[in-house]
Amino acid sequence: MEWDIQEQGEELPPIDYRGYLKTEEWKMKSSEAKQRASFTCELCGCHEDELKDAKLEVHHVSYVRLGYEKPEDLVVLCSDCHRKIHEDKVTFEEAREIYKNVELWPEKRCGESGSLPF
Ligand SMILES: [Zn+2]
Ligand SMILES: [Zn+2]
Repeated sequence: MEWDIQEQGEELPPIDYRGYLKTEEWKMKSSEAKQRASFTCELCGCHEDELKDAKLEVHHVSYVRLGYEKPEDLVVLCSDCHRKIHEDKVTFEEAREIYKNVELWPEKRCGESGSLPF
């Protein structure tokens, strides 16, 4: 079976997804991803230390290699950006385009309410 390469939202990944997120292997992989991103949200650019109520999370750009992800399958997002991506069902690439075109950016960011441009 072939999975759609685009992430379709939290409800569609393979059934053992939640369990996988609790494994040591995933913890290691996600902390490596955060290190690669210098502990910064790859969308809004906030560093972990700047986040107020939000925290850094690791998002699957693709679930195709779930369990043996390549670095490019993962991006680091603050929980605000992460939630918006899933709520609005946009891909990371689409979200990044939207962010690029927002003139007010980056004055409004870091989890202030209503600050996300999409
Ligand atoms: Zn963010
Ligand atoms: Zn996600």
